[in-house]
Amino acid sequence: MTALGLEPEPLAFRVRPQVDECFDSWIDRVAFAHDTTRSDLFRHLGIEEALARQDLARGQSGLGFAEYLRVHHMVERLAWAVQIEPSIVKGTFLSVDGSALLPRRMRQYVCARCWQQARRDGQPRIIRKEWILRMSWRCRLHDGLLSRVPVEEGPMSDRALDAWLVDALAEAERVRGGIAYRGRRLAWNALCIDTLLRGSLNRFKGEKQHYLERFQGNLFHFTRHRVAMLALAHSHLDRAVWGFERLVAMTMPERPVQNAASLQPPTRLPRNWRIGRGRATPCPVDSHLFDVVLAYAHVQERRDVSAPGRTPRGLLSAPGSRRRAARAP
Ligand SMILES: [Zn+2]
Repeated sequence: MTALGLEPEPLAFRVRPQVDECFDSWIDRVAFAHDTTRSDLFRHLGIEEALARQDLARGQSGLGFAEYLRVHHMVERLAWAVQIEPSIVKGTFLSVDGSALLPRRMRQYVCARCWQQARRDGQPRIIRKEWILRMSWRCRLHDGLLSRVPVEEGPMSDRALDAWLVDALAEAERVRGGIAYRGRRLAWNALCIDTLLRGSLNRFKGEKQHYLERFQGNLFHFTRHRVAMLALAHSHLDRAVWGFERLVAMTMPERPVQNAASLQPPTRLPRNWRIGRGRATPCPVDSHLFDVVLAYAHVQERRDVSAPGRTPRGLLSAPGSRRRAARAP
């Protein structure tokens, strides 16, 4: 019962989770169907409102007892609200380590082909659980690269969505066409994603385990070319991304790690970064930085070669840039 003594009721629209849909995708569809926000939806259902701001993609995984009970209550209320079994709500959660998931605000990668089909068939457009994993960068159904849905205030209009789908598909297919995958890497990618989806803690052996350790918590989302970089890492041009991986693996004060406190700006620059003052001794440039320069030079070179005389757009240019460029004065 709410503070005003009103009894909550089940929702008008029984928006149910689709197979393999992640929690955020589903709950956002529920809120949208009722023209409300997640906070208001939770308040209406008698769910603690603070949970609306919490990252719930992993459900009850890794929570203390009190938090576990709060999320348990939320699951029960949501299940009742759309008249489904609580186990179906729990099926939207991923039981993985938090570092295997993309940061919350970046869980917007989808397959434009899947969305196009869903739109044509009148089915809901969803974000699948596997697409919010850092390891995920392609649609296994369509062998297409994932595309990042633009951040908008609320869902896109049909017109904007159609325009975005056309752009995203063209871009994904163009980048995909320029990359020759290594079959074994793709097989390991699928195997590891399935393992994460099952919440299995099994370890592999040898190269497979090395692959899992390299990609499970990868940091390619530090670049806006995340998907193309991951595709390159699974191709015969794997070396092109080594420099980037080494750069983000370096210990630097700017690079956020798991502790949120590390997001604070450094109070003092590292000694060998201070230039022109004091007695800091010249420090040799880290040889890894040369790898970074070489990696980007390599990508740049491929970009120029990929479409000679046809388009100045590069292998790693972002979807939508053609449209923006066309509108530019
Ligand atoms: Zn697809």
